[in-house]
Amino acid sequence: MYPKVKPALARAWRDLQTVQFGVTPAHAVVLGPVDTATGALIDRIDGTRGMDLLRAEASAMGMPDGLADELVRRLAGAGLLDDATAGGPQAQAVRARPESLERLGPDLGSLSLVHREPGGDLRGLAARRALRVQVRGSGRVGAVIAAVLAGAGVGGVEVLDGGRAEPGDVAPGGLDSGSVGRLRAEAAGRLVREAAPGRAPRAREGGGPERGPEPGLALVVVAPRDGLHAWAPDPDTAAGWVATGIPHLYAGVLEGTGLVGPLVLPGATACAGCMERERVELDPAWPRMLVQWRSAHRRRAGAACDLGLSTAVAGLAAAHALSFLDGELPASTGARWEAALPGLHWEGAPVGPHHDCPCGAAGSSRPAALERVGGGSGTGPPDGP
Ligand SMILES: [Zn+2]
Repeated sequence: MYPKVKPALARAWRDLQTVQFGVTPAHAVVLGPVDTATGALIDRIDGTRGMDLLRAEASAMGMPDGLADELVRRLAGAGLLDDATAGGPQAQAVRARPESLERLGPDLGSLSLVHREPGGDLRGLAARRALRVQVRGSGRVGAVIAAVLAGAGVGGVEVLDGGRAEPGDVAPGGLDSGSVGRLRAEAAGRLVREAAPGRAPRAREGGGPERGPEPGLALVVVAPRDGLHAWAPDPDTAAGWVATGIPHLYAGVLEGTGLVGPLVLPGATACAGCMERERVELDPAWPRMLVQWRSAHRRRAGAACDLGLSTAVAGLAAAHALSFLDGELPASTGARWEAALPGLHWEGAPVGPHHDCPCGAAGSSRPAALERVGGGSGTGPPDGP
């Protein structure tokens, strides 16, 4: 064991006996009482020394026997300890690719805050590498989401879209100007490969005993170029994912409004069918309007999509997707977040299951169902720590 105080959290003394790790309230931890000598020992727990050396140095500093071990236990108990050798064989495989690790350094730091046990960051990264995600849409929102997911270490990112890229699809972080005129799916595939921090694992590679068939989809991100399909998602398109239990997340921009969510956990949270039934109940004219909107969108050449807003939507959607893939339930689970120009206040609203929808979310006891979907589904994210 080579213990290391998590470098992601800044250290500051609150007073002579109390150390605060971290600045922001969401992840900061206060440790005390800590005397000055122990504080000096904390500085040496940086991953370069094994326990024997730490004990020897503590002894040389005049500390009683057992203090180094007790300190390491306390730090681990507070979620502040990492271990330069922890994480098991999957983490070792990640360590073997130093060029990826350097690029993913900030992401590992972030994972170390969420996965609190030593080695949790590398295990989290190894879990991302084994996942497969499908992004539907390669416009200003979809392509950026796909690139971010690949860049954050998700091993399998595929982008589905038709036609050829147009100048209006070009976005920083998304398709570049060289993509214009090329097949969108091809251009997006190249974007994903270039965004990935290292070569993605392949099913054929290695041939070890645990290599099975390609993993099922852990998540589908629906980020259509035409934001109407995110605003009013089509229950027929989603039916297959609902039936097979594949989680899916909607994101898009429509007429100056950006939206992220809901993240649908089939059978546990509201699906596209629930949303449509709810809308029809609230507004009997909805079906008639929707038909006209869809027809108008097919004919219309230019959609309104602010580049700043589309980038924000893509970033937020990708962060929610990563949080879910990492085993958490982000705020878009069963809820939709919207921000409209020019004020851009993000506002969230729950999306409730509808009792007439065949997806069954209305009948499920929600918290228990969420737990089940978040932890045990074959196509879901990996189990948390
Ligand atoms: Zn439903």
